[in-house]
Amino acid sequence: LKNHVNSGLPKESDMEIKEASIQLKIPDGTKDAILLKNLYLSCDPYMRNRLKKLEGSYVASFQVGSPISGYGVAKVVDSTHPGYEKGNLVWGMTGWEEYTLLTAPEILFKIQHTDVPLTYYTGLLGMAGTTAYAGFYEVCSPKKGEYVYVSAASGAVGQLVGQFAKLLGCYVVGSAGSKEKVDLLKNKFGFDAAFNYKEEPDLDAALKRCFPEGIDIYFENVGGKMLDAVLANMRVHGRIAACGMISQYNNEQLDAVHNLMYIVPKRIRMQGFIVSDFYHLYPKYLEMIIPSIKEGKVTYVEDKAEGLESAPAALVGLFTGRNVGKQLVVVSHD
Ligand code: NDP
Repeated sequence: LKNHVNSGLPKESDMEIKEASIQLKIPDGTKDAILLKNLYLSCDPYMRNRLKKLEGSYVASFQVGSPISGYGVAKVVDSTHPGYEKGNLVWGMTGWEEYTLLTAPEILFKIQHTDVPLTYYTGLLGMAGTTAYAGFYEVCSPKKGEYVYVSAASGAVGQLVGQFAKLLGCYVVGSAGSKEKVDLLKNKFGFDAAFNYKEEPDLDAALKRCFPEGIDIYFENVGGKMLDAVLANMRVHGRIAACGMISQYNNEQLDAVHNLMYIVPKRIRMQGFIVSDFYHLYPKYLEMIIPSIKEGKVTYVEDKAEGLESAPAALVGLFTGRNVGKQLVVVSHD
């Protein structure tokens, strides 16, 4: 990181690529360490918060002058940790660099299934997938036949929430910011309907058209004006899973939400959640998702940026909607 960015759209030039030498062996006497060769890095919207100089956030700020860290897929090249050995493939928290020495691994999972694309562990089989699974099944209390709305629906999390809701037999509508993304929602992910929110400034009218009987479940990825419009279109006993509010991440001042009062007469349950509270469900999620992938019941679209030098633009692109599907960076193919 070159400098912190507290508000506004982050720029590629807020980050820089630096060369440094690294020993490809863990120093003698260093216990419980793992040296990783990074293969794929995941670009995630929550990283916007870490670009800020913040205190008291649920994630720590990145340090100026140090490599950014985030989720990724890597190969163990050396280990003094009893749980890992050379050659293991892992996903979890790593550095935005070619090699990372982890001295106290926090979130790290050994990859057991290698007969699926390894890049999936940056999204579908990693953090975003667990988010969609926990957010939809645990937080939304979904039932067959319910009306489900997903915003930022073509992204890493949204495309999965829509597919999970379809598998359960719900009626699913998604919104996204381009024609290409709307086509994906309808033709690739099987959403019943979709709209481009950038071309429909009257969000209330768009939601009324898509949900003449109202929304039972809103999977919230966007916040701001979208949340306001949704609140007015929820059904009685509706549920809102507050997964993220990306429209607010660059704002200095948060947008006011005017329609919150609807929560009372409509008896809406709105619940925020953080995926790391649900990692105990990861094995259960794998049991469900691996066969679904192999049987072609769930599909996944990825947007791969090639090379570490493309990482800053890939991260910044999340906030302009440049990514189509899960944004990841290929550092090395093996
Ligand atoms: P995406 O792959 O969906 O990428 C971000 C997308 O957000 C962009 O492509 C863009 O799509 C959309 N977007 C960007 N700016 C705006 C804006 N101002 N208004 C509306 N849409 C915007 O990201 P993820 O699927 O990884 O994340 C989706 C949400 O889930 C985020 O809010 C994220 O913070 C949250 N999240 C929360 C987790 C948790 O533990 N609670 C874990 C993981 C993610 P478009 O072209 O459609 O505008």
